[in-house]
Amino acid sequence: MPDFDKLRALAKETISRDDIKYLIGWRQGTYGYRTSPHFVRIPEDADQLIFSPLCSSNLATYLALAEKRPVPRGSQPDTRKVAILVKGCDSRAVVQQLVEQGIKREAVYVIGCPCEGVVDLRKLEEKYPHTLDRVGARWENGNVSLDLPSGNAVFPREEIVAGKCLTCRYPNPVIADVTLGENVEVSGSTAFEDINRFEVKSAQERWTFWRDKFNSCIRCYACRNVCPMCYCAECILDKQNPAWIQRSVNISENTAFQLARAFHLAGRCIECGECERVCPVEIPLSYLNRKLVKEVTEQFAFTPGVDPEAKPLLVGYRPNDKGDFIL
Ligand code: SF4
Ligand code: SF4
Ligand code: SF4
Repeated sequence: MPDFDKLRALAKETISRDDIKYLIGWRQGTYGYRTSPHFVRIPEDADQLIFSPLCSSNLATYLALAEKRPVPRGSQPDTRKVAILVKGCDSRAVVQQLVEQGIKREAVYVIGCPCEGVVDLRKLEEKYPHTLDRVGARWENGNVSLDLPSGNAVFPREEIVAGKCLTCRYPNPVIADVTLGENVEVSGSTAFEDINRFEVKSAQERWTFWRDKFNSCIRCYACRNVCPMCYCAECILDKQNPAWIQRSVNISENTAFQLARAFHLAGRCIECGECERVCPVEIPLSYLNRKLVKEVTEQFAFTPGVDPEAKPLLVGYRPNDKGDFIL
């Protein structure tokens, strides 16, 4: 994990370049364990940048959205690059957006941050509820060290990081113009043990599980808004004519919403876990997404967001495919 001085010096150097529009990174939040996205537009802004085990946000979400901003009449678009800090999973979102032509390679300058994992704030809040003073965090010999109001506390990685980090296969950025710090060891696998355990339950048990979860969805759309792969100019959920999915919050429409979103992400979800992190009612959305990741891996030997030269899964086919749906 890079020290802050090195990170800030690189950011200042980057934002001083004529071909960089702004830089997106992380800074300490206003209270507790929170961090927030930070837009660096002048070198002085870089003094607030951090990269720590509390920097959960996948900043790639802002890349594709920025591309959609309309240019005021009479103005020329600003074609300078956006510089962005990415962890391993975030970098996969950048690659997948490139593959889908959601962004252009020449429009982005990627600063890779090899990543040992991010803290699951729900686990932390359970241990130290109602912490309002700002908390700092860093990696120390494979453990997470936290500067809490009550003093320093050190947690083993397995105890405190988000579930996605325990199975992470790409902790090192898969695309970067420059990398901060050394690459870290890769320990994840494609065993999908969590999904396998769920799949052996009966159909009734699985439906009962999801019915209860979907029932609690309040349709806030935080999961969609935070997702780096949900960047369509017009989302099917917002369409009024025809209204494919009603806004009413009930089990039928909630189920339609959840399944539509999951299938729209088939072969595109890069497992950043952001949707699950921000869900206010704690729906385990990663089960749903990882089930489709498993199918895509096993059925098509495809991994999204790792090869900028790849074609999107759903636009490719082989003429000699054995499936009878190929003419
Ligand atoms: S999933 Fe991997 S890259 Fe992403 S935060 Fe966890 S360890 Fe880091
Ligand atoms: S974030 Fe959670 S509650 Fe909100 S729409 Fe998504 S699944 Fe439903
Ligand atoms: S569906 Fe969730 S895990 Fe997948 S890319 Fe979107 S936010 Fe990340």
